[in-house]
Amino acid sequence: MEAPEDPNARQVVCSTCFRLVTEPLVHVIPAYNADVGRFVTTFRCETCWLPSLEETRALLEATADEAEIASVAVFFENHGVLVHEFRRGDPAPIVRKILVEMIDMLRSETIRLSIGPLAPRDEVELHIREIANNEKLAEAAYDAMYEARPHSVRDCFDDACGYLAQAISVAKRAGLDDEVARLTARRDHIIKVYDSQFRGIG
Ligand SMILES: [Zn+2]
Repeated sequence: MEAPEDPNARQVVCSTCFRLVTEPLVHVIPAYNADVGRFVTTFRCETCWLPSLEETRALLEATADEAEIASVAVFFENHGVLVHEFRRGDPAPIVRKILVEMIDMLRSETIRLSIGPLAPRDEVELHIREIANNEKLAEAAYDAMYEARPHSVRDCFDDACGYLAQAISVAKRAGLDDEVARLTARRDHIIKVYDSQFRGIG
């Protein structure tokens, strides 16, 4: 049994109202993040979780985007609930139907997910700083790509991708799904820019 007054209980911020929620009361649910175009892990307080979950359910039911559907399966898997149909590569509409049923189980609290192996707060701060440093170096390398002489464009590109890969791996280890999604989207964008504007120059 978890005691709510446990001084070691972790606290997280509700992604909707930004109030602090102590771990035993938090609801871990998937929600759509428009910046990265997929569903990510979010934390919600007692007041906000049901409306957010309804929104997620409606968006999931309405989407035909395979990457979006997959991101909900990944959300469940990241919290220890394996989605067999997703694993074996069933068509997206079938996986979506099962995921909607799983959302209903979250709603009825038949399943309740825990925050998971998040590191203690100090460690999270260290991870966040490490991510920020790597991201800064990656952005500097990306900027340098535009100024670089042709023979060093490729080096700048490799640096940018390398630092972002490092940031992504730190974020993964720290369980920061939002950051993983955001950094991956940034890396994909940089690769796209390189492929369309620079490939063949360096
Ligand atoms: Zn809230």
